[in-house]
Amino acid sequence: MPMYFPDFDSLKRRAVQRDFRKPDEWETEDMFRRSFSDFMLKVDPVEAEEILCGRGWDQQSPVERIEGIARSTAARITDEKCSCDHLRSEHNDRFQTGHGSCQECSCVQFTWVAFVKEEKNGHQD
Ligand SMILES: [Zn+2]
Ligand SMILES: [Zn+2]
Repeated sequence: MPMYFPDFDSLKRRAVQRDFRKPDEWETEDMFRRSFSDFMLKVDPVEAEEILCGRGWDQQSPVERIEGIARSTAARITDEKCSCDHLRSEHNDRFQTGHGSCQECSCVQFTWVAFVKEEKNGHQD
C-alpha cells in the first residue's frame, strides 16, 4: 500500500513506528526526511523513496522510481571482492584506491570478482 509523508508530523509518526530516532531540535524537515530515508533504504527501499519525495509510489514518476532503485542498490554495496577472496578495502592503493597488493595475503594486485552487498540480516555473502 502506498504511503504519503507530506509534512513533518507524518514523518515523526512514521519514524516512531519504524524505530528510528526523533528529530533533533535544530533539524529541519528536509534534513530529517533525508536521514530517515537513508535509514529506510536498507529496510524498505520503496518506503525510503516515499519518505524522500513525500508521495506514495503510485504517484511517483517513472524517473523517481528508477532513481529510488538505483539509490537502494548503491547503498547496499559496501565493498568489492578480489580473486584472492579478500576485500578491496584490504588492498593497498595503486593508481586508484585499493587497486594495489593485498595486506592479508601474497596477492599482488586487486582483481575484481564481485560486489559485496550488505544483507538485511547484516551478514555478507
Ligand atoms: Zn587480492
Ligand atoms: Zn588477499
